Parts: sequence; C-alpha cells; structure tokens
Amino acid sequence: MSISRQIMKYGLTRILPRNRWLTRGTSGLPGAPVSWTFDDGPHPEWTPELLDLLDRAGVLATFFLVGEAASRHPNLVRRIAAAGHLIGNHTYSHRTPREMTSAEFVDEFDRTQSLLADLTGEVPRFFRPPKGEMTLSMMRTVWDRGATIALWSVDPRDYRMSSSDEADRWANSYRRKSGDIVLFHDNRPWATSLARRLIEADSGLGDASVRLDEWMSDSFTRARTGQAAAQFA
Ligand SMILES: [Zn+2]
Repeated sequence: MSISRQIMKYGLTRILPRNRWLTRGTSGLPGAPVSWTFDDGPHPEWTPELLDLLDRAGVLATFFLVGEAASRHPNLVRRIAAAGHLIGNHTYSHRTPREMTSAEFVDEFDRTQSLLADLTGEVPRFFRPPKGEMTLSMMRTVWDRGATIALWSVDPRDYRMSSSDEADRWANSYRRKSGDIVLFHDNRPWATSLARRLIEADSGLGDASVRLDEWMSDSFTRARTGQAAAQFA
C-alpha cells in the first residue's frame, strides 16, 4: 500500500463510523481477540484444507470471496457459510479502480452480492476492495447499499511468500493485539500453515479468531470485558 493510501486509510478510520469503514477491531480487550480474513477464494485445493483446520480448532473467520471463483465453486461457498464463517464481497473479477469504470464497479458489486445471497441465503454485509484501492464513487456505491468497507491492520504478505519456512517465520514473529484484522489469502498455499501455526502458538489465549461482524456488536465487547471482571472477582 502506498504512503498516500496509508494516510487516507488512517484518516478515514478516525472520521468514519465503524459500520462504514472498518480497519481494526476494539483494542485492549482481554484475551486479545482478533479477526482472520481470507481473500480471493474460494480455491478448490486450498480452501477445503483450511476449512478442515478451522473446523477442528473451532475457529471462525471471514472470507472475502471473488464472485467469479464463487460461481465456479458454489458448493465451497455453501460449505464456508454452513461452517459458520462470515462471507464478504471482494468484487466479481478482482479488478481495481484503475481497471474498471464506476459503472462496471456497480455491476460487479451487485452481481457478487446477489450470487452470494443466492448461495448462502444472506446478503453480505462487508465489502473489501481488491488491493484496498477505492474511489469515492465506489465508496458511495457500497454505502448506498448499506454495506461496510472492511480493510485490515496486519498484512503478512502471504501473496509474496514462496516457502512454508517463510510462513513459519512470519507466524513466529507475529504478536497478536486485540482488534487486529489480519489479511490472508486462501487462493495461495500458505493460509492453512499460517493458521495452524497461529492456533498452536495461541493455545490458552482464547479464540484464535472471531468474525468481523463481532466488532459491530456492543454485546461482544461487553461480554469480553464482563468475562474479565468475573475472572478477577
Ligand atoms: Zn484480493
């Protein structure tokens, strides 16, 4: 992400409400809950093994699906939803604003919303722009439709990794902080090994990951802080 985009991202985080622009969750919560997000799937090879792992560990995450891939693998989309994960819209073709007009964006956004709603029975509430790039007219489109633009606060750059050693190194050096939104890609081979490493390292800390919509609910924060108060009582 370029410097100017970083500045824009943090500037908007300060002025916009969380239900419009989400870049991180609540800090300072006991147990340091974080959200793992997996972009660019579903992938016929990597997504199922990731789902197996998350299932076994009882971990919930958010998947930002590309419409084109979702239409090729509808059963995987259904499986992600049935497992209790949250599904978000990541455009239909994974093109950035430089590669499409505003009208094309509207079409991609709407097409992906209806495809995912048809497959899961739920209209996605979150949208993530490919590479985090957006124009003002695209933001308006998303907000007019009542959706939240969700970015991330931690980027392991798994799309540049070329070995599981690299994935391990990142996982070993990452120190989770309450409210982190971590950007993974399940169309790359590293998602499962990164998640496995983090689950192993985090054992005892509490949920390895919660769905993005938890950050929108006051009861989540209250339950977390209430839990801590009960422990100290
Ligand atoms: Zn992407």
